[in-house]
Order: sequence, then structure tokens, then C-alpha cells
Amino acid sequence: MIAEHEEIGFKEEAPSIMVEIFQTPAQTTYWLTSGRVLFLIINLLGLACFAYIVAKRLTPLVRGERDIRLDRPLVRLGKLAQFWLGQWKHPRYRTAGIIHILIFASFILLATRAFSLLILGISENFVTPGSPGEAGQIYEMITDYAATIVFACMVIAAVRRVVFKPARYEVPAKYGKGHKVDAVFLLALIALLMLSESVFEASKVAFLAQQGHAAFLAALSLPWMLKNAFSSASLPALWNLHRGAYLLDVLTFYFLLCYRPFGIQFHVETSLFNVYFAKLDRGTVKPVRWGVSDEQLDQVKTFGVKMFEDFTWKHMLDFYSCADCGRCSDNCPANTVGRPLSPRFLTIKARDYAFQHFPVIGRANNSHALIGGIYSEDEIWSCTTCGACEEECPLLIEYIDKIVDLRRGMVDDGNVPKSIQKALKALESRGNPYGKMEKKKADWTKDKDFQQTCNVKLLNGDNTAETLYFVDSITSYDDRIQAIGRATARILKDAGLNFGILGAAEKDSGHEVRRFGEEMLFQALRDHNTVAIKESGVKRIVTSDPHAFNALKHDYKDLPPVEHISQVIAREVKSGKLKLNHVENGNNVYAYHDPCYLGRHNQIYDDPRTVLDAIPGLKRVEMSRCRDRSFCCGGGGLMLFYEPQENERMGVKRVQMAAEAGANVIVTACPFCMVNIEDAIKVSGMEEKMAAIDLAELVDQHIVRQSPHAAENENEVLTHAGA
Ligand code: SF4
Ligand code: SF4
Repeated sequence: MIAEHEEIGFKEEAPSIMVEIFQTPAQTTYWLTSGRVLFLIINLLGLACFAYIVAKRLTPLVRGERDIRLDRPLVRLGKLAQFWLGQWKHPRYRTAGIIHILIFASFILLATRAFSLLILGISENFVTPGSPGEAGQIYEMITDYAATIVFACMVIAAVRRVVFKPARYEVPAKYGKGHKVDAVFLLALIALLMLSESVFEASKVAFLAQQGHAAFLAALSLPWMLKNAFSSASLPALWNLHRGAYLLDVLTFYFLLCYRPFGIQFHVETSLFNVYFAKLDRGTVKPVRWGVSDEQLDQVKTFGVKMFEDFTWKHMLDFYSCADCGRCSDNCPANTVGRPLSPRFLTIKARDYAFQHFPVIGRANNSHALIGGIYSEDEIWSCTTCGACEEECPLLIEYIDKIVDLRRGMVDDGNVPKSIQKALKALESRGNPYGKMEKKKADWTKDKDFQQTCNVKLLNGDNTAETLYFVDSITSYDDRIQAIGRATARILKDAGLNFGILGAAEKDSGHEVRRFGEEMLFQALRDHNTVAIKESGVKRIVTSDPHAFNALKHDYKDLPPVEHISQVIAREVKSGKLKLNHVENGNNVYAYHDPCYLGRHNQIYDDPRTVLDAIPGLKRVEMSRCRDRSFCCGGGGLMLFYEPQENERMGVKRVQMAAEAGANVIVTACPFCMVNIEDAIKVSGMEEKMAAIDLAELVDQHIVRQSPHAAENENEVLTHAGA
């Protein structure tokens, strides 16, 4: 500011009386107090208050569990550039996203100006680095527009909150009182900050203009409009406006700074750290305790999260970083179908708990059990670990690891729903959740018609193969799903792969067991399978089950490379090894349903679509929720053994989405999706209008073969799919 005066020649050219009148805030007097002293006190008090509040807010983080987040700094910086600075996820909700990007970018631009303004109160000689000269004028012009944009965005955001009331901001009665008043109050404070800054600047320029000194303001900006409005005001009025606006600006700034850690606006401070320390590896589950190896787990006294302090510091930082935008719950299938789970409120409840039990004034209170306190058991079991919430969150807040940790705590306390207990016991004794005999594991290969078309090797020491087909429990034992296993085996054979299965030596992959919180059982299954796979001597693994795929890829260690069958098919179709016939029924319209553990957790979206598009004549449509916004079918693995309270099934919703897209066949690439979607078709009475088929089955039907063996399979699949 001072530099600007000098820039326009104010000091040199103006009569001495003007120099006396138009002093900087540091030079002026407020209620007999020197401005310099007053603003020094305000600055020191404001900063001290802020530091104290933040230190108090950090208390639980210091007491929280360990969380190792210092690895791969370059990757983390890349994430920071993309998701924090680049606001990558915001445009997924167009209006709110654009408003947020404008506010964020403007805040970044205004940061230097805000700092300069504060210093101006204590030093009239302060010059913003880089501000003299043309660069300074350009910066002033940009920040004039930035302040205007922020002011306008605050008004728009307040109108949206109060008038249009987007459903995702609403707070259902069971979750307490709404957050509208707090949100609008904060918007008003930010608007006031922009307004006071602009009045400060406009009054100065209007004052100078009346003295015949031109000063530049960006045309149509808020300061420019205010300057025009002030043009006929008297000099004393402009001077008082100028001094008053500065005081209001500084007080509003520090009030806002110290008020933010009490609510959703705390994310302004925490988001940078939250994004930098975000989880880097998709599809994984955090260890029971960071820094404690699997071998040392028997020395751990309790598992999982039971009390608030059992959360890791990063998960607590997540609670502080939530902007309460509601995107996670808006995309959560459990919330959509009325299960007692809304991820947004998992966070809000935990944050309220932290505020209450770690108050800014007073000592931290005793901790209480979270389950039965702020969370219910059903709430935590309702999650399908689909990942839609995490995919949507612009601040990269994590849910699955927290939910798994809460489940680990419940499992440790013996709080497991009866239906799941039964499945877990069967897994422990038989290695599969159905309690079926191990020796029947390979029975799906004994179908007579199938054996005429494909001979599946059992890798039991007598036989060896390059490729292992890891079948997993549901494909091995479920009568309907066995057809997917047979289709997969035939495709592997047609692709010319030398493959085999482990048969009785293969146990459940343990994918869902781990995500249901039974870590020790998972580790037993993992260790058994790891030995069996290594002993088989295979060089690669293929599976048709995305849950097994995810487990082998992320939960197991030191295995040969793993692929999902859709990847194998896509590659072999591209290479020309697999050729596909023209679609059998040209009237069918197909919609591909992205399984959560193939899509969101492993980013395989294109291969299945490439395969479908390689079938000549096949008509394909996309559902409104597809790819990374796919809607979970209801969950796999142990979810099949758990019936939460809900208003309707997720699968039914998914079938409706396919019908709305104009499809009459849903193609999926996961055995659990198949069970849930076929069930949903029956439940919703749509057997005549809709069918479901697995990608492997569809490809198996259309492969160009020398021998006529495809006929057997076609009959089998068409019967199931009803297509
Ligand atoms: S993982 Fe899926 S079901 Fe679980 S809270 Fe997130 S969106 Fe909801
Ligand atoms: S967790 Fe993320 S998506 Fe959900 S309300 Fe908070 S900021 Fe929004």
C-alpha cells in the first residue's frame, strides 16, 4: 500500500496536509491509542489464540495410534499438486465444485495481500515483496478480482444453502441438529472480510481521487464499485471509513482464524496436511498396528479401534478435515438404500466427540467406548467396503480402514452377528464360508459335458502348469457360479494357456474375512494359500473373482503376478488369439456393471469394455453410475451372510439403473455381483425384462472355436441368464 502511494507519486506531489491526513493504519490513532500498538496487540493476541486452539486440537492426535505416512514424498507431493492445489475432485459436482475452485484459487491469490494488510497495521514502511512496479499493480488488480469472486461466491453459496437446500447438506434428525446456521455464519464472515478489505481500498482511492490523484482499481471489481459509490462522500467520512474498515478487517481475520478450528472450516488449515498424508495404495487394508509385524501380533493386547484414542493420528486428522460437503454419503450405497450408515456422519460424530472430550478450555475427558456410544454395531457392519465414499471425497478422507479397525475391535470383543459367526467358523474349520468339504472343491470340473470340452489340471504335485486359476470359494461351491468357473477355464484353454487349479489345497482367499475384521483368520488362510501357490510352481495367477484378485494382489506378499480374467481376455482379443463371433441376439442391449474390487479398488474399467466392444454387433450402453461412480451390488464375501436393516436392496437399485439406461442384459465380472443382481432381478419381478451374465460366460458363448463344444456351454449360460 505504501509502495503504491509512492508509486502514484502521492508523497512527493501531495500537499503536506494530505500526508498528515492519509496515514497508514500504523500511523493513525484509535481511541487515543497508537494504531501501531493497537494492531501489534491484536496481531499477537490473534496468533497466540490461534496457536493455543490448534495445540488443543492436536492433543488427541498426539495420543492417537501410530500411522506411518512419511514414505514416497514425491508421490505425496504429486497428490498434493493434483488434489489440493489442483482441486481435482471438485468438478465431480459441477456447481459446488466450480464455486469451491474459485474460492480456493482466490484465497491462494489473496494470501499475500492478507499478510501485507496485517503488517500494514504495525509498520508503515512494509513493502510486499515484489509489489512495487508493474508486477505489484497487476497483483493488486488480480486480488481486486479475487476478493470480488470470493464475495460473490459467498453470496451464491449462502443462497444455495438457504434457498435451494441441496439434499446432501441436510442432517437427518437421528444425526442431530443441522449445520446450516454454522455454514451460513462462516460464509457471512468470509464475505465480511472481503467487504472490509474492499472498503479499505476503495475509500483510499476515492479520497485520493477527490484530491486529484488517480489510483488504479480493477474495473467492475468490488473495490471499484465501492469507490464509485463513495465518490461523493466527504474527505473526513472517507478517512473514517478507511480506518474503520481496516480495524474491522483485522478483527474479522483473527476471529475467523480462531473460530475455524471449532467447525467444518478447520479443513482450511488441515486439508493440506490431510492430502499430503493421504493413503497411497488402493485396495489395501491398514495393518492391525503400524510398526508391528504379523509375527508380533500375538503380543498385541487388543485389536482394532474401541476408544477414540485407538484411531491413528491420521484418521483423527481426517475427522478435522471433513468439509461436511456430503459427497461421500451421497454416493454411499448403504446410505442410499437406508442402511444405518452414512459415512459423512461417521466423521462428523467422531469430530464432535473429539471437540467434546478434548475441549479447548479444560482438561481432556475420560474416553468412552465408541460402539454403543457414538456408533452402533449395525452401522459398522453395514459397509460393503465398496470405496465409493473415498473415491468421491475431495479431501481424500479414508473410511474403509477406519471401518475395518472398528470391526477388528468388535471381533476382538466377540461382538459379531450370528450369521457371520457361522460363516467365520466354517472358514476356520473347512477353509470356506459354506462349511463344504475340501475334497469337493474341484467338483465343478467334473461336469460331464464340461469335461468333454476342457480338462482342468489339478496341481497336486503330479501336475505342473505355468498358470494357476485361483477359483475361490463361491465359484467352487455355488451351483450357479460354477458356470463362471467353467467358462473361465474354457477361455484359458482357448487362449492357449497351460493352466491348472489347486483343488482341495486352495482355501478361501480371506479377502472378506480381513475386511470383516478377523485378521488372524485371514492370516491363517493367506499363509496356507501362499504355501500352496508357491509349491505349485506356477509363474502367474488368473482369477475370475475380483475379491480374490484384490486379496492376492494387495493382501498377499511375494506371489507371482496376478490378473483378472477380463485382463487376459482383453489382451488375447487384441493379440488375435481369441476371436469372437457376431453377437447372438442382436436385439439385446448390454450394460456393464463395474464390480467395486475390479473398478474402484484396482482401476480396471477399460478391459471389460474392450472385450464387450470386441463382440461384433453387440449394443452397449452405460448406466448413469458407472466406472468410478459404479453402485455396489450389495457386497461380496461375508456380506452374503449378513442381512442389515435396509429399505431396499442395493442390487434392486442397480437393476433399475440398468433398465433406465435402456439395457436388458447386465454384464458383470464378479461372482458376488452375479448372485446379488440375479437375486435382485427376481425380487423386483423383472425376469422377463432383464438378465444377468458374467463377462467370462458371454465371451465363452462367442469365442470362435474349431470344435463344436461351445454348444454345451451356451445352453448352460443362456438358461441361467434368461437372455
Ligand atoms: S465403503 Fe461403500 S458402503 Fe462403506 S461407507 Fe463407503 S460408500 Fe458406504
Ligand atoms: S468425508 Fe469428504 S466427501 Fe464426506 S462430507 Fe467430508 S469432505 Fe465431504
